[in-house]
Amino acid sequence: MLIRSDYHIHASFYRVKKEGAEPGPTAAEQLAAARAAGTELVGIVEHCNDAPHHPFRCLEELSAEYHAPGFPREKVFLGVEADLAEDGSDRCGREGRAKLGLHYVIGSVHVSPVKCPDFSVYLEYEYKRIANALMNNANVEIIGHPFGEGIRWEKAGIIPKWHWGLIPERFLAEILRLAKESGKALEVNRCDFTDGVYLDFLKEIKTGKILFSVGSDAHGTRSVGNAVTRTQVLEVLGFQESCHWRPKA
Ligand SMILES: [Zn+2]
Ligand SMILES: [Zn+2]
Repeated sequence: MLIRSDYHIHASFYRVKKEGAEPGPTAAEQLAAARAAGTELVGIVEHCNDAPHHPFRCLEELSAEYHAPGFPREKVFLGVEADLAEDGSDRCGREGRAKLGLHYVIGSVHVSPVKCPDFSVYLEYEYKRIANALMNNANVEIIGHPFGEGIRWEKAGIIPKWHWGLIPERFLAEILRLAKESGKALEVNRCDFTDGVYLDFLKEIKTGKILFSVGSDAHGTRSVGNAVTRTQVLEVLGFQESCHWRPKA
């Protein structure tokens, strides 16, 4: 059995919101939800990027909650989900990491069809950032939801149906190779377990003994349990605890 972990839980309470919007959960509220779902190792994050509703001070406020006396930090870790630039560097950087007292950084790609309408340009956009982060960024431990943005091109009506068969094979092979070489983890998140090519990618992670991590990507308390369901699928696929990523702390 795999240890129940979820290193991608957003404490969305701290982001800047429109007046009257739902406040979103704090770290303590997300931790309680994760424990109720049966998650043993918990990682709380928020976004680190250039969006106006994610200023750095929100991360400082989240860090203050986590590091406050009395916050139950046993088996609870603090991370960020930082946007990756084309060269693979992340928005948080070593300096931000030290300032916030983080245990880990998830490097993710976030891009919309509005910014990048051409679907094949998007695939290249995400691939380059992931590959460069795997090769050159010592600050990042986990690649968040690889190709998790693809579904947006389906929702925008640019492609009829998103599936992993649309990703060039060489991109997937190179990501697997670089993940293995770098010792970084590939995150199981925003996943469709009915997608045959995605399942093959997971099998390569398993047989290649590449590190993996599991994320619910929950922004509210209700979706925190998604990590448990995903972990159960990985168990059925034969994933081993020895390749299950853990923070060094
Ligand atoms: Zn993300
Ligand atoms: Zn996220």
